[in-house]
Amino acid sequence: MPNELAAPERAASAAEAAVPTVKLLIGGRFVESKTTVWRDVVNPATQQVLARVPYATADEIALAVESAKTAFKTWRATAIGARARIFLKYQQLIREHMKELAAILTAEQGKTLPDAEGDVFRGLEVVEHAASIGNLQLGELANNVAGGVDTYTLLQPIGVCAGITPFNFPAMIPLWMFPMAIACGNTFVLKPSEQDPMVTMRLAELALEAGIPPGVLNVIHGGEDAVNAICDHPDIKAVSFVGSTGVGTHVHHRASLAGKRVQCMMGAKNHGVVLPDAHREQTLNAIAGAAFGAAGQRCMALTTVVLVGAARNWIPDLVAKARTLRVGAGDRPGIDVGPLVSRAAKARVLGLIEQGLAEGATLELDGRSPEVAGDAAGNFVGPTIFSGVKPGMAIYDQEIFGPVLLLAEADTLDDAIAFINANPNGNGTAVFTQSGAAARRFQEEIDVGQVGINVPIPVPVPLFSFSGSRASKLGDLGPYGKQVILFYTQTKTVTQRWFDDDTTTGVNTTISLK
Ligand code: NAD
Repeated sequence: MPNELAAPERAASAAEAAVPTVKLLIGGRFVESKTTVWRDVVNPATQQVLARVPYATADEIALAVESAKTAFKTWRATAIGARARIFLKYQQLIREHMKELAAILTAEQGKTLPDAEGDVFRGLEVVEHAASIGNLQLGELANNVAGGVDTYTLLQPIGVCAGITPFNFPAMIPLWMFPMAIACGNTFVLKPSEQDPMVTMRLAELALEAGIPPGVLNVIHGGEDAVNAICDHPDIKAVSFVGSTGVGTHVHHRASLAGKRVQCMMGAKNHGVVLPDAHREQTLNAIAGAAFGAAGQRCMALTTVVLVGAARNWIPDLVAKARTLRVGAGDRPGIDVGPLVSRAAKARVLGLIEQGLAEGATLELDGRSPEVAGDAAGNFVGPTIFSGVKPGMAIYDQEIFGPVLLLAEADTLDDAIAFINANPNGNGTAVFTQSGAAARRFQEEIDVGQVGINVPIPVPVPLFSFSGSRASKLGDLGPYGKQVILFYTQTKTVTQRWFDDDTTTGVNTTISLK
């Protein structure tokens, strides 16, 4: 999906100057940017301007990297137990501030309060995992690889790492990145989404309170220029990116050319497959939650469902289920579907719905003018369902990132698998069935990173790493979990021999160890 940096970038008017500003975090201090370019952070349920976020200057970005580079000199040698204890304290602080963090997140991003708590919680799980870094950052040792020779590996921190994050999980995705990088002994420069940076900044404050030393975590703000500065900076050794496929591909190529490690988790078109033997009520609930939760603004949202064989007759039930969902501001009790993040996002989703109609898909449920509980000023679109969807239609070919569920049909499970594998994206998928054999065939044949079996949004817990296939991921190691330890460390292999007598082995002119 296209990014939204076309949104206003300009100097502040006098009225805007009264609105609080989002600070930069450089060298352990929260500082006001000297930039002349600012953007409003807007509550998407009410259009209230909550804050102004700066587009950091080139000098400020350079200063943040410099401060991370300086801090690395001491942080890299900090005892592993001392690093772990900071994350033990950090997880406790996040727990204590859960309601506050969720309220900030809902105000600036729009998702419901319970879902905002989920956003924080899925990041908190990574912080808990970072606290077990002592067991994760272990090397290997082989005794007697040759006579009297041992070989072992050290997993050493690599230096300044950077993270670039999207708007849709402003707590979880920053927490996918900096805790693991820092726990490994690196220092970090984070650039959160300019659309909703406030909860990320509160998490940064709590990280300092937990004991992260000055310069170890830095936060800058901005858009394209800040991202390009990160890609190009010679002192940044690794870049983690989560966002759209177009921007992620650019980041991957640009930062790789500059010699960095890069991991990019990108866009999606996630398909569910419903086999006729699936548990009907559970499956309907799962699809409705996964298609319309967070107003469809999840990279793992289940946006396309392939109905196989007799499951074709489930359409009226899916529509009935979607009709039960309540649309409104995320801070109101009982709301299921909050607003889209911006007016531009709403206009884009409405435009795609129009295109779906024009291209011949059948509109089974029209969410363009939803009944909204409470204030209707927000960027609301209600649950929308199209059937008869085919490749070549814009609604299928693009990531909609809104509460729009697409229904396609297939005669067999094999046809459904072929349909999904022909889509360029490979982020998440799910099969709904009571047949173990069918589920196993799906698991083996599908070319997608995250696979759910009767689990609609199979985001892995941090005992595992997030993955992705084809256009959904560039770079070989995923964020958090075991894989990210390798991403954020340099493996050094040491081969050693000690002599305890005067016996010599003579000159060895071969490659063999003797
Ligand atoms: P986005 O690509 O617009 O923005 C992501 C980051 O890139 C932001 O920090 C933004 O400032 C920066 N950016 C935007 N335009 C840029 C440009 N032209 N040049 C350089 N940097 C730029 O993504 P978004 O709209 O914030 O987030 C939604 C997208 O993220 C969706 O495509 C979604 O599928 C994807 N996503 C993927 C995952 C995953 O794990 N695969 C997780 C969450 C979101």
